[in-house]
Amino acid sequence: METCDVVVIGAGAAGLYCAGLLGQQGRQVVVLDHARRIGEKIRISGGGRCNFTNLNGADPARYLCTDPRFVRYALKEHPPERFIARVRHAGIGFHEKHLGQLFCNDSSQQIIDMLLADCRRGGVQIRHPVTVTGMQRLVVRESQEPEESRLADRPSATGAPPVPGIRALQDTDAGQAPRFEIRTTAGVLRARSLVIATGGLSIPAIGASDFAWQLATEWGLQTIAPRPGLVPLTMTSSAWQPFAALSGVALPVDVSVTVSPPGRAKTRKPQSVRFGEDLLFTHRGLSGPASLQISSYWRAGQPLWLNLLPGIERAGEWLVDLKHGRLAASPLSEGKRGDGQPHRQQLGTILSTLLPGRLARAWLAGAATLSGTQWPPQLAAALQGLREDMRLTDLPDARLRELGQALNAWPLVPAGTEGYRKAEVTVGGLATAELDPTTMMVRRIPGCYWIGEAVDVTGWLGGYNFQWAWASAWVAARALGNH
Ligand code: FAD
Repeated sequence: METCDVVVIGAGAAGLYCAGLLGQQGRQVVVLDHARRIGEKIRISGGGRCNFTNLNGADPARYLCTDPRFVRYALKEHPPERFIARVRHAGIGFHEKHLGQLFCNDSSQQIIDMLLADCRRGGVQIRHPVTVTGMQRLVVRESQEPEESRLADRPSATGAPPVPGIRALQDTDAGQAPRFEIRTTAGVLRARSLVIATGGLSIPAIGASDFAWQLATEWGLQTIAPRPGLVPLTMTSSAWQPFAALSGVALPVDVSVTVSPPGRAKTRKPQSVRFGEDLLFTHRGLSGPASLQISSYWRAGQPLWLNLLPGIERAGEWLVDLKHGRLAASPLSEGKRGDGQPHRQQLGTILSTLLPGRLARAWLAGAATLSGTQWPPQLAAALQGLREDMRLTDLPDARLRELGQALNAWPLVPAGTEGYRKAEVTVGGLATAELDPTTMMVRRIPGCYWIGEAVDVTGWLGGYNFQWAWASAWVAARALGNH
């Protein structure tokens, strides 16, 4: 029977980073993965250039988690700067693209190569494709020794220099009785510690599975039901027809949704979550960063509030002022006064200076009756019968105000999402109440750690999900030195 110190299941971002750190501390580590190619999500990420972290990645507000406080410790202990330092040390060129997002200059493969090189340096064995066929917890008597006496800061058994911030392990610790038995298609392994790093359910074609949820259920651990996140939203196909032709049209919007924060019913106050990003119209619905970001918060049946004119706070007043010649016609003139003459331009022409022309025309013709839109009755009535060739002067001020209000807050109810086939992440995972945030160890199962996307932590779009994978892996790797 083969025995090692740590078995890591899942050779993705979190699993490889954790294994490399542990191996370099002298741990005997075996990584198991069922996929033919490992690190695939890293390879396809960021359009092939891996958006590997975000300069704002230490901000807990950019993560969804049933207990928002849970992420604080790992992000503080392993902020983006730690991983950036590792990337720099590996000589990988990178750049900031947008809103703190850091991308490789050349290829995602450089990140995979860096993680694999760290594993090789630490003597980590990576075995794949290997299927785990059964897992068993072995009964062992835990050491009564006080934890502090088991810590040691000294070079690892392999002679490799200690990884900064990671405590070296005591040799005696490595010799303690195994607590887990892992049966695989390539034999049976016993290990003192186990790290579950099998990620979420998105993109099953490259190896995603529900392994973590299955195991949690088998071991009686609480999970948060999975749902696709960072995913395009779909509309009912018949209803979306007038807008399907806009596929490829993009524009900056503000999108918001109302969420009920987790917690006790009494303290729950619904909050509005808002993103100002680009929206992309597709044949089936909405995509682009705005739609992906809000999808992680959206729940079936809820409306999204789309502000198509985020640069004009009160579009209704703006239209009325324009009509009466109190403002110059172009929004680019930024509030410049008009000539006082009534404004006779057509609605279609005015809206086409603010929105992509095709969208302006389709919206005027179709938004009033689009099923899946939850217009308040008076706005629905105001939008009925609007035509692009109507002149501003043909419309009463009250109707222009309502038109502006509708453009500032279009309540659209998606029919669903494109699902795990297209989702970048899975929202949900092992309930964080099961984990110690300072170690990522399952409180009820000594020696068992859960990291990365398999935990109920989901980052925003923009490098936050890798940041969580690195931070949770690092905290677990450090803690494994203390057991
Ligand atoms: P993964 O990296 O998914 O690794 C899980 C590993 O476990 C895989 O190798 C898998 O084969 C293995 N596994 C699964 N089930 C089993 C099983 N039953 N037995 C054995 N092994 C198993 N995030 C960002 O921050 N920036 C980006 O630019 C970005 N781009 C993305 C683009 C796409 C298209 C996708 C799908 C995701 C993107 N993400 C991005 C999200 C990011 O890739 C993940 O959040 C991150 O990879 C999670 O790391 P992980 O180690 O937890 O899981």
